[in-house]
Amino acid sequence: MNHSVRLLLSAALALAQAGAWAWSNHTLPTYRAFDTMPELAQAAPVLAEPLELFLRAQEKPIADLLASQETWARTHMPHYAPRADTLVFRADASRSDAERRQAFLAALRISPLSRFALYLQPDLRHTPDPTRRLPHDAVNFLPEQDNDERRFVRVEPGEAVAPLAVLASASDEPDYGLDINLWDDSPSDWGKRYGFGTLPFGNPALYYATQAPFHMGFYHQDWLIYKAAPFIQRTYPLMRIQQYSSLSALAFRSGHDYWGWRFAGLALHYIQDLTQPYHADLSPGDSTLGLIGTNVLAMAGFPKRRDNLIVLLSNRHLALEKFQNESMVRSARAGTDTPLENALRESRRDTAYPAWSPLYARDTVAREAHESAEQTVRTILATVPAAYVSDPAFDFGVKEAGIRLLDDIDRQGPTQRAELERQVAQLLARFGSHSRNTVRGILRAARQQQP
Ligand SMILES: [Zn+2]
Repeated sequence: MNHSVRLLLSAALALAQAGAWAWSNHTLPTYRAFDTMPELAQAAPVLAEPLELFLRAQEKPIADLLASQETWARTHMPHYAPRADTLVFRADASRSDAERRQAFLAALRISPLSRFALYLQPDLRHTPDPTRRLPHDAVNFLPEQDNDERRFVRVEPGEAVAPLAVLASASDEPDYGLDINLWDDSPSDWGKRYGFGTLPFGNPALYYATQAPFHMGFYHQDWLIYKAAPFIQRTYPLMRIQQYSSLSALAFRSGHDYWGWRFAGLALHYIQDLTQPYHADLSPGDSTLGLIGTNVLAMAGFPKRRDNLIVLLSNRHLALEKFQNESMVRSARAGTDTPLENALRESRRDTAYPAWSPLYARDTVAREAHESAEQTVRTILATVPAAYVSDPAFDFGVKEAGIRLLDDIDRQGPTQRAELERQVAQLLARFGSHSRNTVRGILRAARQQQP
């Protein structure tokens, strides 16, 4: 049975990832989560600095930090694939900036195509200066999607920029290709050097499927699922959070505040992804026995229920994200607040959570998302038109660009939108709290570890 459960789960995860990037554009909710937090709203501007200058100035401390990151991952991540010694970042003042940059990306095991441009994604509440527009490809090497509302603007080296804008912009950046094609079976040369093994789930030929194991964490499933499908434990958000949060603290400590906020934003992305139930639960709303029963039927020659489950999982995942993004883009353009913006800013519950640590993402963030998975699915089913979320013949991913979800939900009746809004607001309140707690944790680490 193990083999076929494995196939079922693999297929489910492969399809669930088709076009899904967790919260669609992290920048917009990050602006709202921080625009009233004093540490950000009142922070003095910082000076933009090219990555090469930061790496040259801090080469030795960075080399030491990356060595300690490797020790941390080997100690704290039971399914971690150790980094080969050939990828170690060693201080070498004689090498070129380009060589140092490539060595840094290889030591972090992220795509060597990563842009790390000096850029900002302005708050959609303000109209960006059209003369400063940066093309998509200068920031993000992945193909541009239809109806993408993201706009990038150029930042010059040495230019003063608001920490909030740096943080919010960077919180979307891990979706710009950094984690694409890093596996043994990826169509890339570096995948074979990075040592992560083969893609644990999903289709290695689909580039977007290859980033999923870095942006999802199934830490709280039933033991039977782990037994049937141990490969679902080979995920890496904790590694990314630890890498970027400690780089952020190092940058703050050494007076490179621009990179302090930029790396903090990169770390936030993975925390925020894990607040999405579809990133912290293998199959929200489906019981372990249900999953296995579905699979037994498929093995007996009745695959319909399995195939339907896979499509419905993907459609609900996409509908949830589309609702959040469409609502927030609409209110940003209108300059108004809905319960979603208010929930993101709500900071009263921040202190109700345990102290931040690099394991906070697993023990606090993902646990909470996993526990609300069932309720989230129930609300989606009660509020979104059945044609979108209960009909396995419908492919939401294929039709997405043409769907006006808010209008369609409003046609369902007078209460549906408010009910879905309440559920998404609860998820976004956690998105806000965990994001702020992460920044507080990083700033505390930066103060404590004075050299
Ligand atoms: Zn992501």
